[in-house]
Amino acid sequence: MIYKRSSELFVAAQKVIPGGVNSPVRAFKSVGGDPIFVKEAKGAYLYDEDGRKLIDYIASWGPMILGHAHKPVVDAVVQKAQKGTSFGMPTEIETKIAELAVSMVPGIDKIRFVNSGTEACMSAVRLARGFSGREKIIKFAGCYHGHSDSFLIQAGSGAVTFGSPNSPGVTTGTAKDTLLADYNNLEQVKALFAANPGEIAAIILEPVAGNMGCILPAEGFLQGLRELCDENGALLIFDEVMTGFRLAKGGVQELMDVQADIVTFGKVIGGGLPVGAFAARAEIMSHLAPEGPVYQAGTLSGNPLAMAAGLAMLTELNENPEVFTSLKDKTEYLHKGIEQALTESGVIFTINRLGSMISVHFAKEAVVDFKTAAAGDNDTFKKFFHGLLAEGIYIAPSAYESWFLNDALSYQDLDDTIAAVAKVSKTL
Ligand code: PMP
Repeated sequence: MIYKRSSELFVAAQKVIPGGVNSPVRAFKSVGGDPIFVKEAKGAYLYDEDGRKLIDYIASWGPMILGHAHKPVVDAVVQKAQKGTSFGMPTEIETKIAELAVSMVPGIDKIRFVNSGTEACMSAVRLARGFSGREKIIKFAGCYHGHSDSFLIQAGSGAVTFGSPNSPGVTTGTAKDTLLADYNNLEQVKALFAANPGEIAAIILEPVAGNMGCILPAEGFLQGLRELCDENGALLIFDEVMTGFRLAKGGVQELMDVQADIVTFGKVIGGGLPVGAFAARAEIMSHLAPEGPVYQAGTLSGNPLAMAAGLAMLTELNENPEVFTSLKDKTEYLHKGIEQALTESGVIFTINRLGSMISVHFAKEAVVDFKTAAAGDNDTFKKFFHGLLAEGIYIAPSAYESWFLNDALSYQDLDDTIAAVAKVSKTL
């Protein structure tokens, strides 16, 4: 049995950790089988507890854009750690990374660092509510903004009714302030504004979605949301936790030339340490404590190790922006190879891609929102996932996740992956 030690570790973990994991997707629930336990990682590869080497297409769900254990990032963390790991007092490095982030991303003057993407999005919504004096938000089905209560909401019974909790523990009181629309559907957003005049504080979305596979905004969608927000006095929040510092230096705002009011970050911005951030123009950020009345805080926020990793990562991306082109080229190469292999096998599929994000859906129709993503054949995906894993290729253990390429991947790795897809596709 090739996963013997991982399976043993999973049994032990389940005795003391709910479901054996500290974040649900890791448990392989949607693909079946036991999760792989990682021992270490370097560059484009994971090394598991059973001594296998895997080509990694998750990159810790995005952060490791330059590959695992990237030397400048590791060196920065090691050096900082020797000088103390947390003070709960201001440090110079926080200003340094803030200055760099503000210079890289369009339209932001100030940034506040937090410890996760969840915190960033939760705080961004509180800030939007505090700034606008309104309580409701619009989110899109299938977009994930972390696990804070306002986001764990599913659509109500009618298109323009209130949302309802999709996890026990989320109150109906909270749910009524989150309105749901389908991704890429401007008409529904218009209807929500019309049904809730003067009540909507903000629209929050992943401007390129990565939590229902990779889904691109349709032509005019982001611009249309910008206009609807302006007409209705609402703020536009781009959740760039996945896309920020990945699709371009300045994220989707730069790539698609649409300006949001508040932007959230996570993943790449922390170089693999627990970091999130939210940013906006000074007029909005000045509402935040201690400058303004909107409360937000964190004992470990701006932690020196996290800031050191983040600063090393952003510095490298800022100085070597050709990384984004290199990643885009590699992803396109992979796309073409996978497309050819799957086409030859006759399996029904569709591939979505932008920059270094790509997803393979076993669906007939174009995948443009949560419903079309959900129409994919999950049984085929499971076989695909386990087939690739047996070949030493690790993709996300869920049909609803994007793959994230890292720049340590070589063309040989990509060819090996394409060959594995060709082999596995014959079994689908
Ligand atoms: N927003 C997006 C777009 C995400 O993909 C995620 C996490 N995958 C989050 C927010 C939440 O981030 P975290 O898991 O760091 O809380």
